[in-house]
Amino acid sequence: MNEVLEKLIVAQAVDLELARLKSELAGVPARRKAAETALRAAEDALRKIDEGMRKEEVLRRTQESEVRSYKDKQTRLRKQLDAATSTAQVTALEHEIGFTEQAVAKLEDEELASMERTEQLEIDRSHAQEALERTTATLTRETVACEVLTEQNTARIADLTSERAAIRADVGATEEGERLLSQYDRVAKSKGTALSEATGQKCSACQMMLRTQRWNDITDRDPNSPHKDEVFTCETCGRMLFYDPRRDAPGEWTPGQRLASSK
Ligand SMILES: [Zn+2]
Repeated sequence: MNEVLEKLIVAQAVDLELARLKSELAGVPARRKAAETALRAAEDALRKIDEGMRKEEVLRRTQESEVRSYKDKQTRLRKQLDAATSTAQVTALEHEIGFTEQAVAKLEDEELASMERTEQLEIDRSHAQEALERTTATLTRETVACEVLTEQNTARIADLTSERAAIRADVGATEEGERLLSQYDRVAKSKGTALSEATGQKCSACQMMLRTQRWNDITDRDPNSPHKDEVFTCETCGRMLFYDPRRDAPGEWTPGQRLASSK
């Protein structure tokens, strides 16, 4: 295999790993924010439930005091009924007592409904309490995980950045290397990756079939051929193709994974 191409395989593994580490690092604020937002939401939900429970209590106290005042009125009306002297008076008082009885029954029904709402709120409250505990634990865990990740990725990024510079200096030391490196940068910029493994007569990055002649050129390198060190590019996506003879059978190719293992 072309010597520069072999170095570029390592360069791509480094670049992909750097991109992964940086993207993970860039995601840290969002991870933390998501955990904080979930906790705030759980706190809000609990607060709303507590507020609802207080409102129901206030409502029931009002209802109870209204019931008491209607009952006091009933007592007064019954005394007046005992002392009533005309049929008209009796009818009017009985009518008024009936009205207070209906009002009391209605208030008692409403009080019962309020108690049922409170029962439901108590159930909701225990769920909200659980959610609060869960989101608090998640935030603690995420905070620690983000700190560890930040520290580890920052250190690894620094190492890989020096490694990358060294590889690029090495590759760029020859004229051919310089040319292939600029081709690498150009394709990597537009496609994300500049190299692609050829497997099963396909470019593993864009999945397009390679012409049989091209496939044979890549896989059956004749050590005496004048083209043995030639770097072929995929005619469809423009990536530089490489073939790993250690790979016996074609399989899944995940960007980074395959190249990383070629190190
Ligand atoms: Zn391709």
